[in-house]
Amino acid sequence: MSGELATAATTTRRLGRLDVQVDRTATGCVVTLAGQIDDQAALEAVAAELPVERVGEVVIDLDGVRFINSIGVREWIGLLRRLDARGARVTLRRCSEPMVHQMNMVMEARGDATIESFHVPYVCDVCGGTASRVLPVAAHEQALRARKVPPQPCSECGGAMQFDDFPNRYLLFLD
Ligand SMILES: [Zn+2]
Repeated sequence: MSGELATAATTTRRLGRLDVQVDRTATGCVVTLAGQIDDQAALEAVAAELPVERVGEVVIDLDGVRFINSIGVREWIGLLRRLDARGARVTLRRCSEPMVHQMNMVMEARGDATIESFHVPYVCDVCGGTASRVLPVAAHEQALRARKVPPQPCSECGGAMQFDDFPNRYLLFLD
């Protein structure tokens, strides 16, 4: 059915060192960003083209964002503001650690977006191994509100991995 094909349409583009993929969904779109958000990432322009005319739900997947600098964060904030102005509801999915650090430093970098899940740095008590795991917010809402991050089993040795940052700093953006 042609209607379904239109709904499933995917577009990809490259903005300097950032890959941008947009997948239309029944209620809006999913935007997947991967690479670097820097002076070449003209994200504000992307906002104008996103299909938000339906229910207007925009999910932005940030799992692949490895780097963001001060010029990049301006572009990023521009994207959030343009989407807000267009009436979109924005959800941030799998926020990478560099994105979490930016959102903790610059309040506008989160804006009014809902945080669905984010990366958490862990270190293993037993073997010293480190890992970045995705934590869903809804499932851990109470613990996170109490500034606690649940331990996770280590994939190397089975020991308990503990959160490897300062809760009052790393979890600030969730407020
Ligand atoms: Zn371990």
